[in-house]
Amino acid sequence: MDTAENWDVYEQFRESMRRLAQDKIAPHAAEVDRTSTPPDTSYDALAEAGMISLPFPESVGGQEGDLMSQVIVVEESSRVCGTTGLAVLTTWAATEPIFRFGAPDLIEEVIPECATGKKKASWCMTEPRGGSDLAGLVTRAEPKGNGWVLNGTKRFISGATWSDWYLILARTGENQHGLFVTHKDEPGLSFGKLETKMGVRGSPTADVILEDCFIPANRVVGDPTLGYHNIMASLGTSRPLVAAQGLGIAQGGLDEAIAYTKEREQFGKPLSRFQMVQGMIADMTLKVESARAMLYRAIEMMDRNPAKARGFASMAKLICTDTAMSVTTDAVQLHGGYGYLQDYPVERMMRDAKVTQIYEGTNQIQRLLIAKHAYGN
Ligand SMILES: Cc1cc2nc3c(=O)[nH]c(=O)nc-3n(C[C@H](O)[C@H](O)[C@H](O)COP(=O)(O)OP(=O)(O)OC[C@H]3O[C@@H](n4cnc5c(N)ncnc54)[C@H](O)[C@@H]3O)c2cc1C
Repeated sequence: MDTAENWDVYEQFRESMRRLAQDKIAPHAAEVDRTSTPPDTSYDALAEAGMISLPFPESVGGQEGDLMSQVIVVEESSRVCGTTGLAVLTTWAATEPIFRFGAPDLIEEVIPECATGKKKASWCMTEPRGGSDLAGLVTRAEPKGNGWVLNGTKRFISGATWSDWYLILARTGENQHGLFVTHKDEPGLSFGKLETKMGVRGSPTADVILEDCFIPANRVVGDPTLGYHNIMASLGTSRPLVAAQGLGIAQGGLDEAIAYTKEREQFGKPLSRFQMVQGMIADMTLKVESARAMLYRAIEMMDRNPAKARGFASMAKLICTDTAMSVTTDAVQLHGGYGYLQDYPVERMMRDAKVTQIYEGTNQIQRLLIAKHAYGN
């Protein structure tokens, strides 16, 4: 985002992405939520428009689009459907370490069909014993013959059963971890029950269970002792994408609240004419724009000052997702009793917002990371 010219290009891209989201994603959002079914139609529409291929290398069918463009796709998708935003960022987050650290034949096996949207991928870090203490995981990978055997359970996995590929972080030594790619049809891989959730209901969530699951040697992603280090590097990309999901949901809630308060009349005039309502809309707008500024600054830092970028990614994740919760709660409030009904999208948006404060490192964990960077540790 160095020049005004770049800014115009991003804004034009946002306009086209917003039209796509409005026409092809928004009409399915309520149904995806009500029936808890994966957003196939929306995902296919994004793939057809070339949006899913955005981050991938050109050599395997991608566009090598920068993080800012990816953020715009997730933001605008989530503005109308939080589940679709999650579906897109899940595949992108799970495949990023593969094309960053994986061997050419692994990239060739996994990435081209993910770029076309034909196949999807899930990112499997959390375990039953905990998500915040990632280094304490117990899933193991042991070398056997010409490959690896995986044993363990991954919990709360977004896209479980829907995705084709699963990126697993597993222990390979006392203080060593590796990243491994498994396929859903692999013998030894199974799924737990689908969880019933508060929000992002169209995104299937389940345990991924690995019982003597054998995978060939080429499915290890990079050095099998550096998986934890590599996943930390990838969080620098995935956290801004979760921030974008939160920001998109917040923008969606704000837009709905503005539209509703212009239409709804009380005491003989539109709600938008009451100063207390205007004050709420002003505060919501301020929060959304502050969160957006923080997120775009975090993206800028990745190029300009990589040493500080992780702290900024945490700040962006924190402010965007806290804003999602706060703004959608106020959007429900401004709809009065109607905001509490499923007839209006703000009810779904408020439920979808909550999980963004929990996953990809809870917002308490983000505060710890921000303090760590502030102290220069
Ligand atoms: C819908 C959904 C989808 C998800 N998708 C995925 C996925 O695709 N892949 C994946 O790997 N995981 C996924 N997760 C898991 C998610 O990342 C974890 O739930 C999250 O990291 C928190 O881990 P936990 O649930 O074990 O909570 P815990 O780690 O047990 O935390 C419980 C509470 O304690 C707080 N806490 C913990 N440690 C500290 C500390 N040191 N200081 C202060 N507070 C602390 C936390 O902030 C939280 O409030 C998903 C979760 C949900 C709900």
